[in-house]
Amino acid sequence: MSTAISIKNHNPNIEVVVHEKYKDIGFNHEGRRCGEAHSVEREWIQWKPSGKSIFNTILHAEITIGKHQYTAGRPPGVAFILNRQEFICQLARDAEKRGAIIQTNDKIQSVDDLDGDVIVDASGCPSMVKRELNLKVGYIGKTYQESIEKSNCFCGDTIRIIFSRFGGYFWIFPRNPEKNEVNVGVGMFGNFGYNLREMLRVFKEEQSITGTVNYVVGGLIPLGLQRPFLYRNILFVGDTGVGAFPFSGQGIYRALMSGDIAGRCIAQNNIKKYPSIIRKEFTQWDMLGSIFIRMNSVFRKINPVLFCHTLNLFFRGEKEFDLISH
Ligand SMILES: Cc1cc2nc3c(=O)[nH]c(=O)nc-3n(C[C@H](O)[C@H](O)[C@H](O)COP(=O)(O)OP(=O)(O)OC[C@H]3O[C@@H](n4cnc5c(N)ncnc54)[C@H](O)[C@@H]3O)c2cc1C
Repeated sequence: MSTAISIKNHNPNIEVVVHEKYKDIGFNHEGRRCGEAHSVEREWIQWKPSGKSIFNTILHAEITIGKHQYTAGRPPGVAFILNRQEFICQLARDAEKRGAIIQTNDKIQSVDDLDGDVIVDASGCPSMVKRELNLKVGYIGKTYQESIEKSNCFCGDTIRIIFSRFGGYFWIFPRNPEKNEVNVGVGMFGNFGYNLREMLRVFKEEQSITGTVNYVVGGLIPLGLQRPFLYRNILFVGDTGVGAFPFSGQGIYRALMSGDIAGRCIAQNNIKKYPSIIRKEFTQWDMLGSIFIRMNSVFRKINPVLFCHTLNLFFRGEKEFDLISH
């Protein structure tokens, strides 16, 4: 959607067709496959949610690593818990208003089904196009999440992230305030074969989290850059190209950013520029992320406690460390 908006913004004459496999935009399974934490900054402020797209404005992030706890404050209007389904619909309305054609109930089976001069793969993780073309992918994490209503741990302005010594993290994010709803989930920096559902059950017990589970979702998260970003006339955006932020799994912001950059390159008829802009925007955090993921996988084999020690080194002295944004 961000690519469609961006293309139409910069060159209204280009015909844009968005193919969505579900019959509804946003209000489908994929639309809710997320913890919904989102932050905006710098020039990307244009992707700030508004109105019904916002469930909560986040002012604090509490991060727990072993016995250590860190708190990061955020000014109002920067970090949010989205009503992601509404947010996607808002983007779709914007794209349509600018002249993009959105075709729902339109599952692409093969890249050969598409005859555009330029193709943008925004099919999420795993990328349907990369699978078909046998292109390599980067680090992939695994997640499992439950939405719980009437919960005793709803705190509207705070997100909580609790790192686990098993090589991943748990999160407790506020969701719909009218239902005292929270998203409680677990994510692993790799596919270590754990039973995530069981891990979350134990976590909820330890944290004495109560409430009624009303939605369950899980899936893969690409941790950091997923090269290649461009292959022939295909640009990879969002999870298929830039992936999620390696430490936190935050991918919405990166999907919007990369989509916007792809749109600009297409509008200027210069898609070859896309990989270098992406590298410039994302490489710094990715280097740190991939060192961290590699160290984590080695430490897990030697002694899992070392994982927490490493994390604490990253965070030590960083009272204001900004985990949910870069
Ligand atoms: C459990 C979980 C929790 C997460 N929590 C957060 C969080 O709190 N904050 C955050 O920023 N990120 C979070 N993420 C990551 C975030 O959801 C993704 O990074 C982000 O959604 C990527 O956006 P995307 O547009 O690239 O892909 P997606 O959001 O996956 O969208 C892909 C779209 O392509 C459509 N599609 C797929 N295949 C086809 C096909 N063959 N034909 C037509 N249409 C197709 C899908 O229906 C979907 O609409 C989480 C992910 C998971 C799994």
